[in-house]
Amino acid sequence: MKGGKLIIFSAPSGSGKTTIVRHLLEKTDLNLAFSISATSRPRRGKEKNGEHYYFMSLSEFKRHIKNDDFLEWEEVYRDNFYGTLKTEVERLWAEGKNVIFDIDVVGGLRIKKKFPDQTLAVFVKPPSVDELKIRLKKRSTESDDKINMRIAKASVELATAPQFDMIIKNYDLDTALAESYELVQDFLSSKNEE
Ligand code: 5GP
Repeated sequence: MKGGKLIIFSAPSGSGKTTIVRHLLEKTDLNLAFSISATSRPRRGKEKNGEHYYFMSLSEFKRHIKNDDFLEWEEVYRDNFYGTLKTEVERLWAEGKNVIFDIDVVGGLRIKKKFPDQTLAVFVKPPSVDELKIRLKKRSTESDDKINMRIAKASVELATAPQFDMIIKNYDLDTALAESYELVQDFLSSKNEE
């Protein structure tokens, strides 16, 4: 596999990375396309298959693992598998796009390792774990149990921040959006050193 550039945004759930990724996708000059992940978790709210995720059963997901169809995959939460299908990235590269990912820290670092020169890996840092809690509760799409599971994971994820190429502090959303745009623009206009 070889192709265009890869932009990864990873962060604990509730850090605002999805908002940042959506904002960047609206900037047509960046020529980005969203990598739709596969997941075995149930659909939430207004999510659509083939738009937010490729939703599949646990057994279907495991079959893809067996077939080596994933660029990376992770059991992000128990029995909730998430992964990037190789065909997804190939599809977007074939369209001449740069690919942007909204994935967990382990998956993000894995892709960076596979494509070190063509990948920009960005970690989005929330102001604090307490603030994360407030944001997740506000979103109120999940049970308290699920929210607590995400909070517990957040502390572990925060410790991986130094392994990323860049850290964006999402303390003020407008500032974080502007910084992210500039960062991606700089990376895309730099030469691929491969
Ligand atoms: P959510 O259930 O809130 O949509 O996502 C849960 C976590 O899984 C988020 O941190 C999200 O970024 C991550 N995630 C989504 N897709 C992928 C993927 O393809 N691979 C990995 N490793 N993580 C993913």
